[in-house]
Amino acid sequence: MAIDPKQLTIAKAAAHLAHKDFSAEELTQAYLDAAEKKNPEINAYLELFSDARDAAKAADARRAKGETNPLLGIPLAMKDNILIKGKHASSASKILETYVAPYDATATKRLKDAGAVFLGRTNMDEFAMGGSTENSAFGPTKNPHDTTRVPGGSSGGSAAVVAADIALGSLGSDTGGSIRQPASFCGVVGLKPTYGAVSRFGLMAMASSLDQIGPFAKNVEDTEILFNAIKGNDPLDSTSAPDARFASASGAKTKLRIGVPESFAYGEGVDPEVVANFKETLAALAKAGHEIVPIELSHITHSLAVYYILMPAEASTNLARYDGVRFGMLKEGAKLFDDYAETRGAGFGREVRRRILLGAYVLSSGYYDAYYHKATAVRAMIEADFARAFTDVDIIATPTAPTPAFAIGEKSSDPLQMYLADIFTVPANLAGVPGISVPSGSMLRDGKMLPLGIQFLAPHFREDMLFAAGKSVEEHTQ
Ligand code: GLN
Repeated sequence: MAIDPKQLTIAKAAAHLAHKDFSAEELTQAYLDAAEKKNPEINAYLELFSDARDAAKAADARRAKGETNPLLGIPLAMKDNILIKGKHASSASKILETYVAPYDATATKRLKDAGAVFLGRTNMDEFAMGGSTENSAFGPTKNPHDTTRVPGGSSGGSAAVVAADIALGSLGSDTGGSIRQPASFCGVVGLKPTYGAVSRFGLMAMASSLDQIGPFAKNVEDTEILFNAIKGNDPLDSTSAPDARFASASGAKTKLRIGVPESFAYGEGVDPEVVANFKETLAALAKAGHEIVPIELSHITHSLAVYYILMPAEASTNLARYDGVRFGMLKEGAKLFDDYAETRGAGFGREVRRRILLGAYVLSSGYYDAYYHKATAVRAMIEADFARAFTDVDIIATPTAPTPAFAIGEKSSDPLQMYLADIFTVPANLAGVPGISVPSGSMLRDGKMLPLGIQFLAPHFREDMLFAAGKSVEEHTQ
């Protein structure tokens, strides 16, 4: 049977593989061919793996022995900051250009165990710092819907490969929106799981109290398949949640009470067409039988300020390890200290250096209490706002991003404008709650149809409610 990536989803491909309509090897070959053709235009893959076909053959052999698994033989892509043993992993940074992963991340291992095939590694903002993929040391990724625009970020490559049908699904990481915002810009589904739901072992740390690995896919059903494969306790990550936490939270209702923080969702800087699309989507959900109620999250407007103190503080600490001795390239100076300065000066891009400086500043003695300490106190208030809201509503809805995909270069000289793109996604990371972005339609801008997304947030470990809400959007708006 002819393979048409445009028509396939993970679930459909799995059914075809089970019916022997095609083999995993043929499927992988079709995706590699499509990727070779399409990637030069969008720069979403940093590398295609030459041994992907061998992995597909191995999946075919496992199937021949009677094994079944929804991911057996399914071609996926991996963000460049998640380790695959024996493969380069650079976090799109010059400093790690030649680094080869010595072990598998737990999420990688779980996907391999399920029989998934890795096609390649995807482009991103350097060390996941950014919202456009323009901060990659290896050139920006372009949005498949309009190549003059960004795909979002930092997991822009992982979103773009799914949107361009050159992978059936992918993994990304989300510290302040890096899965959900690019999913919205590219018209695919992206899930940031509950903090602790997916092991961070083998993920290059950005801000450890905020980072989560999560999946991208074309629809909610596929996203759920990927999440189920990678979630669960891992003794190698001390912040990984015990399995009992998952079991105790299940049984999504079919009719949800959906809270909308109106003053926040309709605040300043939100594109009027984004607001209109969001309201239409809510109306469709109400028509489908869900209840929409206004809510108040009193401290949520401080989220960005809190994030841009805590995140750089943690990131500057995490990035101290890239000194040219333990990791990455080494540029030798006159003395040992010069080695560090030269290596880090040449190896890190501007945005990464900016955040290291900010982080060192907010943690310095004299400023620690004024910034870091205060920000942790406000973070606790934001967490409490969510806890209070979830005693009344099942889930919360907002637009995923205040605008559709912006033009390449439009915000790159103004970091503050770039940071404002995360206004709706950052609160979930601060509170540790799960969030999903689901395509909610599109809008016309400069002659191109650009995708928009709706975001849902749920209580800890209630990804099941996010999937229920997301499926409802798919059913009633598309
Ligand atoms: N865009 C946000 C930032 O620049 C979020 C990044 C992320 O989630 N990794 O920090």
